[in-house]
Amino acid sequence: MKESQRYLQGNTGSWELVVGLEVHAQVISDAKLFSGAATAFGAPPNTQVSLVDAAMPGMLPVINRQCIYQVVRTGLALGAEINLESVFDRKNYFYPDLPQGYQISQYAKPIVGKGEIIVDLEDGTSRRIAITRIHLEQDAGKSLHDQHPTKTFVDLNRSGVALMEIVSEPDMRSAEEAGAYVRKLRSILRHIKTCDGNMDQGSMRCDVNVSVCRPGEPYGTRCEIKNLNSVRFVMSAIECESARQIEIIEDGGRVVQETRLFDPDRVETRPMRSKEEAHDYRYFPDPDLLPVRLEAEWVAQLKAELPELPNEKIARFVQQYGLAPADAGVLVAEPDRADFFESLAEGRDPKHAANWVIGELLGKLNKTGVELSAAKISAIQLGELIDLIHDDKISGRIAKQVFDEMFETGKDAVRIVEERGLTQVSDEGELDKHIDEILNSNSDKVAEYKAGKDKLFGFFVGQVMKATNGKANPKLVNRLLRGRLSN
Ligand code: ADP
Ligand code: MG
Repeated sequence: MKESQRYLQGNTGSWELVVGLEVHAQVISDAKLFSGAATAFGAPPNTQVSLVDAAMPGMLPVINRQCIYQVVRTGLALGAEINLESVFDRKNYFYPDLPQGYQISQYAKPIVGKGEIIVDLEDGTSRRIAITRIHLEQDAGKSLHDQHPTKTFVDLNRSGVALMEIVSEPDMRSAEEAGAYVRKLRSILRHIKTCDGNMDQGSMRCDVNVSVCRPGEPYGTRCEIKNLNSVRFVMSAIECESARQIEIIEDGGRVVQETRLFDPDRVETRPMRSKEEAHDYRYFPDPDLLPVRLEAEWVAQLKAELPELPNEKIARFVQQYGLAPADAGVLVAEPDRADFFESLAEGRDPKHAANWVIGELLGKLNKTGVELSAAKISAIQLGELIDLIHDDKISGRIAKQVFDEMFETGKDAVRIVEERGLTQVSDEGELDKHIDEILNSNSDKVAEYKAGKDKLFGFFVGQVMKATNGKANPKLVNRLLRGRLSN
């Protein structure tokens, strides 16, 4: 971002925006944090609840090693300190969807300490955002208010599912930076497979802390906006909340620290609870759980086994394939997208392959709302289409039509080209015939062209393309036309 754009403008001059994020990411694990119950999304209510998750008297939590493995790998991927000893605490509050009456979380001694994320901004610059800590905690159940006119139902499937809470320092200075932070974090988690990052399914949720101050002055009072479930909402909530705070201060008021909710329909934030009514959680170490002690060698082994991380992959794509960093960033944003590109680029012009993935394929996926993993077209199939262009069998324009049909039907390119008779016309005799006809029936334009109206060349090319239903080999048409019109 340009320095001039970095400050918000109020009536009384410029303001600096300060943002820190708390992201709850559901850990990829078949079982819950302290029980063996399943964690799959979308199961019928209360079908994935063990006696531990329902908090039956006398039940004892048993830590799931897989969740520890996952959070340590996450910490390592964020270049963070791994605390070889950490402690689980009880965070006490009362709510219908929390049968224990407390959440098991980590407070004073989290498993992961300080780390960082490098975020990439639209203008090509990057910024370092510090991570304060990551701790493990249980998710709560879910209250269902829409099942009965007068009753609230409770679904405990999520109760006890492992969450990582990833807390950032207040290092972000714009909605754009916060959006880039969430996207980069999600990309890292997906690459190392510790969270699926599906925000629409609630596997990643953001609490956004926002304050404003005069540039160079100490930070202002913050408000926290809870439970944002898309990057767009994160950015939009920051924009409207900062505008609200600036207006209050410029009107002579004072921002009150409180928790707020974002209403995407009205694009505004509303108070949820103020600091005065804030919970006193009475944290204390959970007496049912021993401190977690990790072996340094185990941590070192996990570090050595980490897969290639997004920033490393971006650098490799730039170096190995000669891609622009921004294009490499788009391809690397999702691991399956990066894999798709790499198998497509194998043995082909990588820039051409990148253009097809970024331009056509991603465009189509966005427009149709289909995920790459569910797309009907494979990298092998798209590769065959690109080869047809490369071998002059079809023109780039026809290829786009063929691509549309491949995307819809999953058919191979060669089959579509045959079925619809789209093979490029590269037969000089046949093209000459069309050119004869066109030049004869447009003798006035031919005369104008020869008198110097060069722009008409495109008209003749267009006529030949039209006569051949777009199938003429454009290079050949150009060459033949130039020959015919130059004498
Ligand atoms: P709490 O324990 O009340 O949640 P923390 O100190 O843990 O408070 O901060 C929570 C989040 O708020 C962190 O992500 C942090 O970066 C952010 N934060 C702290 N101070 C500010 C501020 N003045 N403006 C914006 N964000 C802030
Ligand atoms: Mg907090």
